[in-house]
Amino acid sequence: MAEISVPSNSLFVGGRWYRPEAAADFEVRNPATEEVIGIVPEAPAEFASEAIAAAQAGFELWSATSVETRAKTLERLAEAMEVHRSQLGRLTSAEIGTPLKDALGGQVDLPVRVLRSYAEIARRYPWDERDEAGSSVVREGAGVVVAITPWNFPVHQIIAKLAPALAAGCSVVLKPAELTPLNALFLAALCESIGLPDGVFNVVTGQGSVVGEALVQSDGYEIVSFTGSLKVGRHVGEVAGSKIARAALELGGKSPAIVFVDADLTVAVQTTVRNCFVNAGQKCNAPTRLLVPRNRLDEAVAIAKEVAESYVVGDPNDPSTTMGPLVSAAQREVVTGFLSRAQSDGARIVTGGRAAQQDRGYFLTPAIVTDVSRSSEIAREEVFGPVLVVMAHDGEDDAIALANDSEYGLSAEVWSGDPGRAAHLARRIKAGQVRVNGVRTPALPVSPFGGYKRSGNGRELGEFGLDEFVEIKAVLGDPTVSEA
Ligand code: NAD
Repeated sequence: MAEISVPSNSLFVGGRWYRPEAAADFEVRNPATEEVIGIVPEAPAEFASEAIAAAQAGFELWSATSVETRAKTLERLAEAMEVHRSQLGRLTSAEIGTPLKDALGGQVDLPVRVLRSYAEIARRYPWDERDEAGSSVVREGAGVVVAITPWNFPVHQIIAKLAPALAAGCSVVLKPAELTPLNALFLAALCESIGLPDGVFNVVTGQGSVVGEALVQSDGYEIVSFTGSLKVGRHVGEVAGSKIARAALELGGKSPAIVFVDADLTVAVQTTVRNCFVNAGQKCNAPTRLLVPRNRLDEAVAIAKEVAESYVVGDPNDPSTTMGPLVSAAQREVVTGFLSRAQSDGARIVTGGRAAQQDRGYFLTPAIVTDVSRSSEIAREEVFGPVLVVMAHDGEDDAIALANDSEYGLSAEVWSGDPGRAAHLARRIKAGQVRVNGVRTPALPVSPFGGYKRSGNGRELGEFGLDEFVEIKAVLGDPTVSEA
């Protein structure tokens, strides 16, 4: 199968590949080798209005298509991704440094399933139904969507917005993360190859603080769907709010994994460490606080240390590698900064936290941290790297209180010998997703994902994810409605 070729140093707006006037050049680097793997335009702020105008034209076309046309388009995009699976997997692995097999699973196979799930959901969604008053309730695409995504699971995060937006009949202007724009442009090329009309999907590359800010400040969009940090999300939400545009915000986390006294400690700790260190810990819903019964703390720390030290940190293309580099030198500095401040605060770094022994690349050995106070920075703030904090709890109520003592509420895990008890306790946790005994993401990715508290507003995936992109209209006195 021929590889897709993506025009170099071009963004994709209104169905055209080009480098906007006054754009600077931005180099994309492979974090494992530090080599430049692509150059993209760094769009100036003034470019935002051009992109929004293109998306408005796209919306006129796309919102007039049938649900079946949109569902089939999602299926065709899924097929195109499957055909080019290997190329897209290698590209994302090169951009983020995640091991190739993880990139294939998380950045190709999962988004393909999300696309297919939305084709099915679109076909059965209540687009036009009657209420008890005899009025028609019509759901339709809300308009132009500004989508802003981070770098950690880049293709999944784009498709989690693009699939429901397209299903609803919306058009999209995507501003992908600075560090990982190439996979977004690759998706644009796939959309072009399946004949998606011009202006329906637009990709604007550049700095968040420049063209990202200008997009959010623009008039002419109805929804901003943002995934990223709490700091930027708060600002994006404020700007959108001032325009009475909707903001769906998927933000950070400091997720707990609670091990209750009747759980299998070894399985619980081993699984939590592995979940925490997926994608070198650069994962919004990583269980980064492991809460264990006080009298088992030393045992839990020893198990966690053993698992952390079994990681093979290195070349993402080597099949024996289990952890690649961090995404950038700056991200590695953020993580080592957290670790050194934790040490000054009295915490004990049991293992890891060292730049790994490669000549090049932003590698860091995974760290286990304990002896932390509940109020310390490392116990409360999102680190976004391979760092697991192990803490003691004093029974059920204390564990739940400790789990909920966070400004975040994205996700949580509960471990018990009695899954029914665990599921019951899950209902006391303030988080958008709670996993019982390490259950993995279902193969059918329709369970809602999103945050309580400062982890965000809105939900992605499944029918809830589609609701985010839909406007609701009541037609009163609709003559097609029977009088009965
Ligand atoms: P970030 O907030 O720095 O950047 C996210 C995106 O926002 C990037 O595309 C960036 O260019 C853009 N941006 C930056 N400033 C902007 C501005 N003023 N206006 C508009 N756009 C702007 O986050 P990051 O470092 O790329 O990603 C890591 C963060 O994302 C972590 O906090 C993580 O928890 C969070 N995250 C959340 C989820 C979730 O689903 N809840 C998923 C993945 C990552």
